[in-house]
Amino acid sequence: MLHRRKSSEEREKEYEFAPDNSTTPLYGSYESAHVLPREVINEKAVNPNIAYRLVADEMLHDGNPRYNLATFVQTYMEPEATQIMMDAVATNAIDKAEYPQTTEVEKRCVNIIANLWNAPTDEEYMGTSTVGSSEACMLGGMAMKFRWRKRAEALGIDINAKKPNLVVSSGFQVVWEKFCVYWDVELREVPMKSLDELYLDPKDAVAACDEYTIGIVPIMGITYTGTFDDIVALDKELEEYNKTAKISVPIHVDAASGGLYLPFVNPELPWDFRLKNVVSISTSGHKFGLVYPGLGWVMWRDKEYLPEELLFKVAYLGAFEPTFQINFSRPGSQIWAQYYNFVRWGKEGYKAVHEKSRDVGIFLAKGLEKLGIFKILNNGENIPIVCWMLKEDPARAWTEYDLSDRLRYYGWQLPAYPLPKNLENVTIMRVLARADQSMEQISLLLKDIKDSIEYLNEHITVKKEVKKSEDHVAGYTHNEKRLLKK
Ligand SMILES: *Cc1c(COP(=O)(O)O)cnc(C)c1O
Repeated sequence: MLHRRKSSEEREKEYEFAPDNSTTPLYGSYESAHVLPREVINEKAVNPNIAYRLVADEMLHDGNPRYNLATFVQTYMEPEATQIMMDAVATNAIDKAEYPQTTEVEKRCVNIIANLWNAPTDEEYMGTSTVGSSEACMLGGMAMKFRWRKRAEALGIDINAKKPNLVVSSGFQVVWEKFCVYWDVELREVPMKSLDELYLDPKDAVAACDEYTIGIVPIMGITYTGTFDDIVALDKELEEYNKTAKISVPIHVDAASGGLYLPFVNPELPWDFRLKNVVSISTSGHKFGLVYPGLGWVMWRDKEYLPEELLFKVAYLGAFEPTFQINFSRPGSQIWAQYYNFVRWGKEGYKAVHEKSRDVGIFLAKGLEKLGIFKILNNGENIPIVCWMLKEDPARAWTEYDLSDRLRYYGWQLPAYPLPKNLENVTIMRVLARADQSMEQISLLLKDIKDSIEYLNEHITVKKEVKKSEDHVAGYTHNEKRLLKK
């Protein structure tokens, strides 16, 4: 178990003198007296109980997911749901011959979601599960690119004269930047105009389109702030544009968070396949679908929008189900968990959980507003994201980053981060009122925020030089390239 390389004799000797047996206390074991491997694998095997404990102890250094206030991703599931996931963890969702019932359950989920998104009955929707919204967005983007190319060629547009482009607001999640880099598409960013207009301007979006535009991506729940793009207005604007355009432009809705929230909480709001130009939609099953990380969904309103050459029929696993995924092998667990949630809660249960989250979010926003020092940018009414910034005050020496640091003292992980392009000098903080956050927890948070403010007012009295760097970001940002370094 040493990370420092030792000769095998040395090692033998140590084991000779310190043999672990079934009565050795875990924390009296040889392994517990040495650091775990960092660069080379250990020579010898280790008792599973010891290995488990020592490896599991490493996790203590991660944050507690339940305290992670900024994430959209599910951090709690019922024991029965966890059990379902463990029951399916050894299955491989891609292996449709060996696990036909996983395939069947995936299809049921696709049907359920397509219906939640009001897929028209006179068209033939198609859909698939993915690892998350990122894979789902990539697939939506690829379908738009391939379809554009085919139509452009048919219309006699020189497809090599320029790169195809994708129109999205500057509030895009990093996946759209990745999509454009990986698939060689120009990212046409429409800036969000001001703090009071944190959404895609439909007129600006359509004005950015030309013959090389593969699609426009509005966001149902901007990752930064939770605000919604006005897709009804965009659809209308695009309808006019498409009347005279040489090549029509479709809409893909990035509904990573709103996709499995709105159908339960605000089913009247049309943002989905009820709008004519919306051809595809993606969402994260692990956000408001309430499944643990590792699940997304993407749908097309009709097979016309999913070019056939993107579908693969893999024969060697014994079935001929067509697939359209970037990923191949992964467990069926998340699909089963999504299906469990649908069965377990139904519309009523999802509504109850989501409305509770919304109430908790609104309560938090009101509590923060009362403190008098914050400007609330999103009060949780759309999706339950509460997002705020400090009001200007020359007398105050501390920043949102200091508040974030101080809240760590209580265990809370509540990052501060800059807004995107055009508004990058604005620092905000964000809390996602999630399924597993109760009024009690958020009341405690409010109290800790109040105490932190008092502490900071008392202890930080001299302004620091604000260093503008990547490291300045206490949590993470959403469209910034980052690599894990050693
Ligand atoms: C979270 C998010 C994504 C990425 O989703 P993953 O499921 O984490 O891959 C993409 N777009 C938006 C708007 C998001 O909020």
